[in-house]
Amino acid sequence: MLDRTSNQPVLPPEIDRRRTFAIISHPDAGKTTLTEKFLLYGGAIQMAGQVRAKGEARRTRSDFMQMEKDRGISVSASAMSFEFRDYWFNLVDTPGHSDFSEDTYRTLTAVDAAIMVIDGAKGVESQTQKLFEVCRMRDMPILTFCNKMDRESRETFDIIDEIQENLAIDVSPASWPIGVGREFMGCYDLLNDRLELMDRADRNVVSESVKISGLDDPKLAEHVPPHLLEKLLEEVEMARELLPALDHQAFLDGTMTPIWFGSAINSFGVQELMDGIGNFGPKPQVRPAAERQVSPDEKKVSGFVFKVQANMDPKHRDRIAFVRLCSGHFKRGMKLTHVRTKKPMAIASPMLFLASDRELAEEAWAGDIIGIPNHGQLRIGDALTEGEALHFAGIPSFAPELLQSVRATDPMKAKHLDKALNQFAEEGAAKLFKPAIGAGWIVGVVGALQFEVLASRIELEYGIPVRFEPSQFTSARWLNGPQDKLDRFINVNKGHIAYDHDGDPVFMTRLQWDIDRVERDYPDLKLTSTKEML
Ligand code: GDP
Repeated sequence: MLDRTSNQPVLPPEIDRRRTFAIISHPDAGKTTLTEKFLLYGGAIQMAGQVRAKGEARRTRSDFMQMEKDRGISVSASAMSFEFRDYWFNLVDTPGHSDFSEDTYRTLTAVDAAIMVIDGAKGVESQTQKLFEVCRMRDMPILTFCNKMDRESRETFDIIDEIQENLAIDVSPASWPIGVGREFMGCYDLLNDRLELMDRADRNVVSESVKISGLDDPKLAEHVPPHLLEKLLEEVEMARELLPALDHQAFLDGTMTPIWFGSAINSFGVQELMDGIGNFGPKPQVRPAAERQVSPDEKKVSGFVFKVQANMDPKHRDRIAFVRLCSGHFKRGMKLTHVRTKKPMAIASPMLFLASDRELAEEAWAGDIIGIPNHGQLRIGDALTEGEALHFAGIPSFAPELLQSVRATDPMKAKHLDKALNQFAEEGAAKLFKPAIGAGWIVGVVGALQFEVLASRIELEYGIPVRFEPSQFTSARWLNGPQDKLDRFINVNKGHIAYDHDGDPVFMTRLQWDIDRVERDYPDLKLTSTKEML
């Protein structure tokens, strides 16, 4: 059934109140701090800082990996669910390090919206821009949080202009900062005509909120010193003239972003942002599958795996597949069809990640992220349904930009290395290629840091010291085309052929020239740098 005014399906209340989103930002902009405050207001943790304080080792409770403890980077993405006012939030964590990774892309396929966090002094940085472009490909709604306003920041108009120009999106201020740096005292809430005053003394105190009848309310002068008030009135007048008012539909279409100013570490502006996600949405969205559109209000359950994480518990070799539910009301114990293998799977111990703990999920709804422990049956891109063969679209696999060969420094352990590599390929942490000629493996990644991460994980989780070495190839392209043409090509180019983890052939080379030549000489073949994981 469609709602006549919005043309969106009318959702059952439990689905209607769900908000599934991710935070995109450049490292150091304040994503971790903001996440902590979300959890604080979501009642999931007692006091912000606790997350970090429990041994410098722990950044947030969503971080499980030893690597992160060692290096203070977030290597794995996971999910956190919490309630806030009438809403149920699912926050999917994106890896934080600056190395570009596929994981992040896939994480973004599982959410309906993103919060873009920028540092008020630095504006739009490179990683933010990259991630923004990914969101844009799906016209995803974006809410912006300009952080660290308690420090020297740029002029408010400069920040907004930079976002509008660099990201080609309309920006509508939801709040306006009063003072900057040491003088920063809070914001004028443009949506609710309220004055929000920051408490500098206690970082965990929620800001004081003063209801104001408008910018001409004499109450303003009681709280804001004259020179700041004058600037505020002038700027807001200009902003109202020059900047667009918030247009809900434009926000949902991804062409306009509301911006809040605040200071995550001072718990300032965070609740207003959370109210924004709650009030403006979006709710769980319709998902495209190869066969048809899947609406969240459909009775039958469906979902797809967007991430696989292994060794969350070092004592077990179990993997957890993170599933975004696309439709229906899921109940524990349900038998779902694993579409790729057409086999039934009883989902006996699904998990919800409630920030502080993992918990058995007795039920879950469209929009939710659940974790399903399994022994490797579930791979990225796999669909689970109540029988229908659905293939959810848009979960990309990228051709790696860096290739290296790998070997165990102890030859006796070579066999175990196969197992470890296969597991990481399943997780999507690396691409694994078996050359058609010769022994060994070629590992492909998108960012250089990933080799290091892999080497230490293989040593840590499997006890196998390994060495990565330059491979003779630098590029890989998937090959597609009529089977006979493909076979003939493979036969005469054996030295350049390898097979990926799914057994699909790839063409490997050092030279772009080679790729161009193949495309010219074999017009029936298609060389692609992405493969949709169907
Ligand atoms: P992430 O790399 O994006 O996760 O950033 P973090 O949340 O770890 O923050 C990076 C640094 O900025 C940390 O030292 C934080 O304490 C600091 N920080 C975060 N929010 C604020 C803020 O509102 N004001 C100030 N002054 N520092 C902040």
